[in-house]
Amino acid sequence: MRAVAALLALAAVAAGYGLGAIAILGLAAAIVTFLAYSEAMPTTPAHAVRSDDTLSDRAAGSARALVGVDALGDPALIVGGNLRVVAANAGARRLFGDRVVADDLRLVLRHPAVLDAVHVAATAAAPVEREVTGLGSDNGAYRVRVASLGPDGGGTRLLVTFVDVTQTRLTERMRVDFIANASHELRTPVTTLLGFIETLQGPAAEDEPARHRFLEIMHREAARMSRLIDDLLSLSRIELDKHVRPQTALDVAPLIADVGRTLAVRLDADQRRLAIRVAEGLPSVVADRDQVLQVLHNLVSNALKYGRSGTTITVDADPIDAAGGAMVRVAVGDQGDGIAPEHLPRLTERFYRIDTSRSRSMGGTGLGLAIVKHIIERHRGTFDIVSKPGEGSVVAFTLPLASTETTVTRVAVTKV
Ligand code: ADP
Repeated sequence: MRAVAALLALAAVAAGYGLGAIAILGLAAAIVTFLAYSEAMPTTPAHAVRSDDTLSDRAAGSARALVGVDALGDPALIVGGNLRVVAANAGARRLFGDRVVADDLRLVLRHPAVLDAVHVAATAAAPVEREVTGLGSDNGAYRVRVASLGPDGGGTRLLVTFVDVTQTRLTERMRVDFIANASHELRTPVTTLLGFIETLQGPAAEDEPARHRFLEIMHREAARMSRLIDDLLSLSRIELDKHVRPQTALDVAPLIADVGRTLAVRLDADQRRLAIRVAEGLPSVVADRDQVLQVLHNLVSNALKYGRSGTTITVDADPIDAAGGAMVRVAVGDQGDGIAPEHLPRLTERFYRIDTSRSRSMGGTGLGLAIVKHIIERHRGTFDIVSKPGEGSVVAFTLPLASTETTVTRVAVTKV
């Protein structure tokens, strides 16, 4: 059942990445519709277009097409029968440079796949599409579509449009990496469990001390899988409602105390102290109670995992004036190894760890900070980490105040 839940979580998180592709498809459909429409548009002279055409019926036809090119959001070129660029919209000028008009297309593009598409489209009945990488000033990935606009001199006048698919390809890459990472993380404990089960069924069947030892390891590995599945489910739930802003007014002080109670056993076991300081009269925030609890739990857990035994973990909550308005800032500080600066920008990536085996041995999944980042983004808050290697880290987040909201519903929270 839990394995099904993990797969569902994986699928849901992966589906989150798919939204970009849907948006791109929508955009492509809009462009196709527009192209069909622009063919039927009345003749209107285009502005600011350099052209080597003579005044003729051909120019009138081209002017009709130029209106379409200027209106298109994506980069677009019109190429004459002699393969010279007749017109370029703002996007194309950005991509290929301001002087693209009147240049030979072969000099502008220098991309064999696009030039081949142009060659084929000149005689084909239907538009020709190719996907290419390393195009234009941004070296991006583009879906290039070449459509005939009719005869021009000895050749064919062509409309070449470029849809930027760089982000879609990156997102696909991330989804593939994510599924590979998650599967790998799940496979490791499963392999260990299977190995021990086989040993207990065979050679160690009658070995009482070995059975005890193996069952302990099996329990630890099963617990690891369980934590990973819980984190995957959390991520998928957060992905699902990331565009829905929380509506509830909440006091963070009782939540901090709650987390202290939940982690009390672990704190005691490591001779740690949790020093909580909440500014007097701390205003309420607009937040989802369970999600803020999860953020606090993940951050204090990390302070426990990566801080030194016997040291104090601090949690400070203060009102602050931030660029986005008044906020409450909660900072969790530890004394430990700290984090080298080169790791800081990547810590909120899924499965990114500085030391994978240390994280695993401490029960980490590599998803804690990714979950924190997504929750804080949903709350329109901010998240930052300040760390000194060898000294420790302060991981802080902000949440917007309830008083700045008009649609807030108050809920009663028990003070501790
Ligand atoms: P994990 O389950 O591995 O702890 P997280 O997403 O919570 O995953 O954190 C990612 C990585 O960031 C950790 O593996 C660890 O290397 C580093 N990290 C997080 N918090 C701290 C901290 N307070 N001090 C030092 N390193 C930290």
